[in-house]
Amino acid sequence: MREGGELVFVAVGANLGDREASFAAVVEALETEPDLLLLAASTVYETDPIGPGEQAPYLNAVLGLRSWLAPLELLRRLQRIEATLGRDRTASAIRWGARTIDLDLLFYGDRVIELPELVVPHPRVHERAFVLMPLAELAPDLVHPRLGTTIDAIARTLFDPQSVRPWRRPEGWPGAASERGLRG
Ligand code: ATP
Ligand code: CA
Ligand code: CA
Repeated sequence: MREGGELVFVAVGANLGDREASFAAVVEALETEPDLLLLAASTVYETDPIGPGEQAPYLNAVLGLRSWLAPLELLRRLQRIEATLGRDRTASAIRWGARTIDLDLLFYGDRVIELPELVVPHPRVHERAFVLMPLAELAPDLVHPRLGTTIDAIARTLFDPQSVRPWRRPEGWPGAASERGLRG
């Protein structure tokens, strides 16, 4: 196994088009990226939309990866995958509006990053049940480097099984058995 790298967590969301196909395509794209190793995938959840207007429900999940990329380069790779999967990023796209795919970098090891285009930990991670519930499956003991609190502790305050509901495993989405090396 390759040495080094950092443990990173990426949130996946979709509420437009074939959501399950988009989820499978994300996994396929990440597995073919050099300098990234997909370690684990959470359960996929269906969640009530929070953005503006009438929106369709989302699928949400979290992926754990080992990254040998600089954080900004990882963000660019994620954005490239979004673009490939049809994410509309024109100026007319509404903030928090519907999207075919959204990939957010939640944590990059225990780094704190504040660049114009990249804030890590993701600035809203601790407010969102649809991120914390899947993340808590993979990394309950991860300490939020700004808040000094574990994911498990934060997730418990937001646990919301009514609006964040376990969904089926999309075809092409890794099963729990595929988890490798997340804790090592
Ligand atoms: P939210 O960030 O509240 O989840 P969103 O995902 O809908 O909203 P986007 O339109 O996808 O927001 O992204 C807006 C900008 O956020 C991107 O251009 C990107 O540069 C920036 N950004 C800052 N920090 C991050 C991060 N940790 N992960 C992904 N994008 C980030
Ligand atoms: Ca987002
Ligand atoms: Ca985003």
